[in-house]
Amino acid sequence: MRIAVFDTHPYDEQALSAANASVGHSLDFFEERLYDKTVELAKGFDAVCPFINCRLGAVVLARLAQLGVELVLLRAAGFNGIDIAAAGQAGICVARVPAYSPEAVAEHAFALLLTLVRKTHRAYNRVRDQNFSLDGLEGFTLHGRTFAVLGAGRIGLCALRIARGFGCRLLAYDPYENPQVAAEIGFEYASVERVLREANVISLHLPLTDQTHHLINAEALAGMCRCVVIINTSRGGLIDSAALIEALKRGQVGGVGLDVYEMEEGVFFNDLSDRPLQDDTLARLMSFPNALITSHQGFLTCEALHAIAVTTLESATAFERH
Ligand code: NAD
Repeated sequence: MRIAVFDTHPYDEQALSAANASVGHSLDFFEERLYDKTVELAKGFDAVCPFINCRLGAVVLARLAQLGVELVLLRAAGFNGIDIAAAGQAGICVARVPAYSPEAVAEHAFALLLTLVRKTHRAYNRVRDQNFSLDGLEGFTLHGRTFAVLGAGRIGLCALRIARGFGCRLLAYDPYENPQVAAEIGFEYASVERVLREANVISLHLPLTDQTHHLINAEALAGMCRCVVIINTSRGGLIDSAALIEALKRGQVGGVGLDVYEMEEGVFFNDLSDRPLQDDTLARLMSFPNALITSHQGFLTCEALHAIAVTTLESATAFERH
């Protein structure tokens, strides 16, 4: 198949080209994101391969169909950037990569957590300035603390396994309980209220839906252990950022590690005139020394990129044969 790969970086190109060596599709790489202003680039291709930050609504999808595109190969798990019903109406098939490396995201959650609890980000900056003072750098050990996940799916379970290695007491909230896996890993299912009340560390691993939007709001934050550490590698909309800023100010929250944030769309689309960066929430969050923010990079390991490339190309081959 002739595939136009959008929003590419050297690491995507490398992973897809390597995986394609034994498959033989024709790949063209574009740095542009796929949306209404770039859709004409898809002319002459059978498939487009966008990343998570694409915006494929009814108009773009209809134009893609007119240009001869039959398949969207989304190289990500979340498909909130694509109007699936409109794709169906346009006669376009959509494939995604439902799971590639839960370990990558869970390990990134721990990278954020360990940095926060041992304040290594602050020590690193000091030492670079030839300042070896320890003042204000006292941390705490994870051993013996209560580590909880909200959402015990693929990534949440990986996070619980890692936390077990640190000697934490483990809690999880998930609407679908699996007693067998709880016994195997050694965690206890609990209500959201109990997780919020008892956990010293809360790591979010549930999808963003109407039910989970702002699950961590002012009321939830007020009910948490004092100095709780919150890690979000899932989706920004799970946390009410304004309420989080207030809780950080009060010292209710001891640390927060965010790989994702509500205003992320504004950040990634600030090159697009129609989606300017709306507010200064991110800057306000970054002003707290105990807020650690990364750029939605939880997935970004060579293993995950390889798995994404392989599954994407397998989907193209399956479509070609169907
Ligand atoms: P998954 O589908 O395996 O697990 C999600 C879990 O959440 C499931 O067990 C489900 O039962 C549970 N859940 C659903 N609704 C819930 C609710 N209302 N309350 C509590 N739990 C609920 O998904 P996953 O692969 O573990 O991914 C989790 C999230 O991680 C994804 O939704 C995605 O947003 C995010 N993610 C982030 C990155 C990154 O780079 N930072 C990469 C991949 C995925």
